[in-house]
Amino acid sequence: MILDIGTIMIMVGVTCGGLAVVTFLVWLSNRPERFLRTWSLGTLVLVGSTVSFGLFEQRPTLLLGWLAAILGIAGITVGWMAAEQLRQKDLPVVGAAIRIAAGIGATSAAALAGRPGTMMVIFDVAAFVLLLEISRVFWATRTESPVYLTGLAGLTALIGISFLSCGIALFFFEEPDFLGIPQTLVETLNGVITLLGLTGIGALCLALVHERIANRHRADAMTDSLTGLLNRRALLDIGKASGTVESTAVIIFDLDRFKDVNDSHGHAVGDLVLRRFTVVCRQALRATDLAARIGGEEFAVVLPGTGEAEAILVADRIRRRFQKEEIATPAGPLSCTVSAGVHASPPNQQWQLQDLLLGADTALYEAKNGGRNRVCWSEATRPH
Ligand code: GH3
Ligand code: MG
Ligand code: MG
Repeated sequence: MILDIGTIMIMVGVTCGGLAVVTFLVWLSNRPERFLRTWSLGTLVLVGSTVSFGLFEQRPTLLLGWLAAILGIAGITVGWMAAEQLRQKDLPVVGAAIRIAAGIGATSAAALAGRPGTMMVIFDVAAFVLLLEISRVFWATRTESPVYLTGLAGLTALIGISFLSCGIALFFFEEPDFLGIPQTLVETLNGVITLLGLTGIGALCLALVHERIANRHRADAMTDSLTGLLNRRALLDIGKASGTVESTAVIIFDLDRFKDVNDSHGHAVGDLVLRRFTVVCRQALRATDLAARIGGEEFAVVLPGTGEAEAILVADRIRRRFQKEEIATPAGPLSCTVSAGVHASPPNQQWQLQDLLLGADTALYEAKNGGRNRVCWSEATRPH
């Protein structure tokens, strides 16, 4: 055999060590990606397991074999915790404790019964089950980043299957109480697959983190930080892609005498009012509607598939609800009003978002001139 098991063990150990360090360093500069820290810990435990396996291969004793097995089960379980963390869930501490306890219990029972072969079969099957669980988590989250997560799911499943093959070979073809690692093709393949798989998993994890950071930056660049709504640029970018023949309406809202709110109550209260308006707006809109903060106290709402009459009703509903809102201030409850301009595209005609915004802005101008706290629409001669 060109590659003996001992050499492969050393290579797997070194790879795990390198991955643990790199993953930890990447986490240090990307603290929100906490799964990296957990993943790093898992690979570190696997270094302990690999070293024990290497020593066990050189000098097989029951204790070394048992240590290698339980460290292996613990390391892969921590890897599973990292995968669950990646799925935006809390660390599954109880689930992990149960898995590790079951692994320690089963391998210890086999060791105490003096059955090292059975102990290794238990380890191989446990590794297979845990790796398959990790693979399942990656597969379930693949929509976030299809290429990388499918790759991660595939590689973890592949390593899992190589462990299962070792377990099957041990169970059916070796003596039941064989002590040591048999120098067989299936064991060599397991080592090589683990080595290549781990390297691939490391690379894919880093690429995944890179993509997540880029996605976060893209979302930040499109979002207004005070209200969480789209910002003006994002709305215009999205609008560039539109222009369907469906009727679409735009409403522009502008808070009334907002400068006075800031002047009398301070900027912080002004910010509260802006946030409260955002909540009122959100509650009145459908999931398909777009809402953006396009200026200091100006908001635009795009209502796809909506005609003028319906948009006027939506605008007026928001206006009335906002008027009823009371914001607590040190000087007592504060109420504020809003004016709105509506403009809808004619049915079955191409439209440009810029034109709809312009029409709504003209209508808003009328609403302001007409006395504020009202809704006007583009061809309106009288306020609503
Ligand atoms: P009108 O009824 O004619 O719209 O009067 P207005 O006072 O609302 O309009 P004006 O454009 O004179 O004032 C807008 C104010 O919005 C001025 C500015 O201080 C305030 N503003 C803009 N951005 C923010 C913000 O992020 N937070 C707060 N608190 N105020 C803001
Ligand atoms: Mg304004
Ligand atoms: Mg205003």
